[in-house]
Amino acid sequence: MRIFGLSGTIFSAVAVLWGWALPGPASALTILQPDAAQQGALIWAQSQPGAQVSVAGTPVPVLSDGRVLIALGRDTPAKVTLVETLKDGQTNSVSLKVKQRKFDIQRIDGLPPSKVTPPRKADVQARIDREVAEIKAARAVMTPYPLFDSGFDWPLVGRISGVYGSQRVLNGSPKTPHYGVDIARPAGTVIRAPADGVVRLIHTDNYYSGGTLILDHGYGLNSAFLHMKAFNVSEGDYVPKGFALGTVGSTGRSTGPHLDWRVTYNGVRVDPALVAGPMPK
Ligand SMILES: [Zn+2]
Repeated sequence: MRIFGLSGTIFSAVAVLWGWALPGPASALTILQPDAAQQGALIWAQSQPGAQVSVAGTPVPVLSDGRVLIALGRDTPAKVTLVETLKDGQTNSVSLKVKQRKFDIQRIDGLPPSKVTPPRKADVQARIDREVAEIKAARAVMTPYPLFDSGFDWPLVGRISGVYGSQRVLNGSPKTPHYGVDIARPAGTVIRAPADGVVRLIHTDNYYSGGTLILDHGYGLNSAFLHMKAFNVSEGDYVPKGFALGTVGSTGRSTGPHLDWRVTYNGVRVDPALVAGPMPK
């Protein structure tokens, strides 16, 4: 035990010396793709097994091999601080530069107030509250297995008709930004699992999103598929990447058949288009 303690002290002393000798912060935490750090991105950092890491003060999961997935939200500021606490108590802090994006903002004024915030009956509101709580619970499931290591593909190929981050401001009041990517395809087109996952929730008739499926990719990373017509899987099913989940529909509050695909990591909504990469031709 004494030898371990001693080597730990020597290691810390060497790390301090490195910090002196080399430019940049003296840290074990490494951002693996610093150039990819932009609002809406999901990027990797490498820490150490057993370490604790927080991003802007919020603790994030550290995988058994020390990898850390970092989700940058739509409104993440230009500088984010990551703090790593190693098993021996040593603390490192890294500052991450986040490229700021310009999102499409559509302002519409002079609307009748009832159109901006439609009055709702108590039973409709109760239903919405219940559905929101069920989706929140499904997203909160922590599966300590990196199913996302399968990598991500688009769940279907088609014309992108809505992008992440756009927002409408009605009579000066900002509505919730659009956090998904919309892909327009005819009703009945097959939707495939973009990565390995476990089906955590199926709503056949959600008030807003109609046929809705939540797929758990591990460690709090999940996909949601909205406005679906039919389902080919059940809650609790494990599905490999590419497996047919169901089909495109126009259910819920939708103006035409399309898939709205969303990706969330421990409460942070990221841009599915950045997760999947360029849409194949
Ligand atoms: Zn959408």
